[in-house]
Amino acid sequence: MVHFVGAGPGAPDLITVRGLHYLKEADVIIYAGSLVNPALLEYAKESCEVYNSAYMNLEEVIKVMEEAERNGKMTVRLHTGDPSIYGAIREQIDELKERRIDFDICPGVSSMSGAAASLKAEYTLPEVSQSIIISRAQGRTGVPEREELRELAAHQSTMILFLSSGLADKVRDELILGGYGPNTPAAVVYKATWPEEKILRTTLEHLPEEMEREGIKKTALIIVGRVLGDEYAKSKLYDAAFTTEFRRGREQ
Ligand code: SAH
Repeated sequence: MVHFVGAGPGAPDLITVRGLHYLKEADVIIYAGSLVNPALLEYAKESCEVYNSAYMNLEEVIKVMEEAERNGKMTVRLHTGDPSIYGAIREQIDELKERRIDFDICPGVSSMSGAAASLKAEYTLPEVSQSIIISRAQGRTGVPEREELRELAAHQSTMILFLSSGLADKVRDELILGGYGPNTPAAVVYKATWPEEKILRTTLEHLPEEMEREGIKKTALIIVGRVLGDEYAKSKLYDAAFTTEFRRGREQ
């Protein structure tokens, strides 16, 4: 059996209880060494074989899983954040299915949730933005043309960009061309929830120069949108005059 496990954004105590349980039971761990906090490996059994997938290709990863399966061992494939977001798990899943190797997925706390907590922010605010666009700038990995940042910018929703901190100039240019005002609040969270976390708050216009000044080139999220500003409407959910399934609103 293979368990894909979301390791969380960095702080070792942000893995789920279930994920930690699998980690402690694992006979084999394959972890994404570029981003997973190695402190999590301290939970592994002494006899556990540990592989860093940063040095492996897909074929090599599958080979380790296959070998473990043949020997009746349990494998944890430890991915950063939540495996469903830029986790490259689909290609592994399909290889496992082809080999009839049983697997499941244990979700994790994505770095985008870690970053929101660090920013003490809410990504969805009434009358500001009720949608979150999760995307990336095009780098070596292609992005479909209809999803270019310029196109997505038309909505002026809250935008969370992964894998884009080396492309800040492009992010600013595309988002402004697409419709965000140059003064739109922007934030960068570097290594959210790690001890070396850095938070930068600026505007879209000044994003690249501020990131350059802080020397942030990787392992960061760029968050853009008016939810990072000061104006919003209060929720209906907790409005004293609003009736919900659980609570009767006060007469005005
Ligand atoms: N599945 C992961 C994302 C993997 S893609 C998740 O849910 O978070 C890798 C990208 O995620 C990095 O380039 C960076 O943009 C972002 N990232 C991962 N961990 C991060 C962290 N602790 N702080 C900020 N960004 C992070």
